[in-house]
Amino acid sequence: MRPEMLLLPRPEGLYCPPGDFFIDPVRGVDRALITHGHADHARAGHGHVLATPQTLDIMAIRYGADHAGATQAAMLGEEIRVKDVTVRFHPAGHVLGSAQIEVEAGGLRIVASGDYKPRPDPTCAAFEPVNCDVFITEATFALPVFRHPDAQDEIAKLLKSLARNPDRAHLVGVYSLGKAQRVIRLIRDAGYMRPLYIHGALQKLCDYYQSQGVDLGELLPATVAAGAKGDFAGAIVLGPPSAFGDKWARRFPDPLITFASGWMQVRARARQRGVELPLVISDHADWGELIDTIKTVAPGEVWVTHGREEALVRWCELEGIRAKPLNLVGYEDEGD
Ligand SMILES: [Zn+2]
Repeated sequence: MRPEMLLLPRPEGLYCPPGDFFIDPVRGVDRALITHGHADHARAGHGHVLATPQTLDIMAIRYGADHAGATQAAMLGEEIRVKDVTVRFHPAGHVLGSAQIEVEAGGLRIVASGDYKPRPDPTCAAFEPVNCDVFITEATFALPVFRHPDAQDEIAKLLKSLARNPDRAHLVGVYSLGKAQRVIRLIRDAGYMRPLYIHGALQKLCDYYQSQGVDLGELLPATVAAGAKGDFAGAIVLGPPSAFGDKWARRFPDPLITFASGWMQVRARARQRGVELPLVISDHADWGELIDTIKTVAPGEVWVTHGREEALVRWCELEGIRAKPLNLVGYEDEGD
């Protein structure tokens, strides 16, 4: 069987004809396999969804329990038959519940990684490289200039700034799924045990992570009702970056805006967003991690999805690995 007979790009997303399912479809389909809960990969309105229990929980939290006609939980490593193919989910190390999806038929094995990061993250299961014939990789940060620093060093910058500016509220921009909980856990691992204040948009997913055994310490709502303006002096307040433009952010004393994202390595992006203290913390593989992963997985062929496909395809070709871009549309960098 040629790989293109097992998985091929369609406008809805990656399609598997012998299994009659899509992986991370961007619009409603009969049968969807979902790698993780970020909104550009997990959408409401499918007839049937197969995903890890945590991804199903996250979809229910975000879209309501009736987001799909039916759901089926895939345990990591479990072999599941879908029509004429066998599928297995393997941890992707991206956010809680995130998985790579292995699709196998007729001795041919393709792994669709979804978003992934190989470096340790205490808030989710560690990425596991899976040997395969075709490895489908993301390419969010697929340029040699992207090298993510140690996340703990970035958190040290935040705590240092807090010590230097005890009268200023530190507003940390974090996406609600994955980044928020990882940044909170990193702050705790750095020894900061005072309460952290969170925007309402983060509450449900932080509660869910805690229910799954990820200890985030004491989290309080970042509302004026919780205290007068001065009470947030020297406090760490976490919220979605979209909230920083509105009234919500102005209630804090002399706010110092920070943003935790892989994109903060690009100074222009930090400036554009009015970020005073950029924190380069990413939930994606950086350039070195992308190429190390490809070397470890040692696939016969690499297919590259959303991001900067060209550089990675070129690198593969120089290494003698067949590679091509998939040109899938509809995926963004929500959880960067
Ligand atoms: Zn993602």
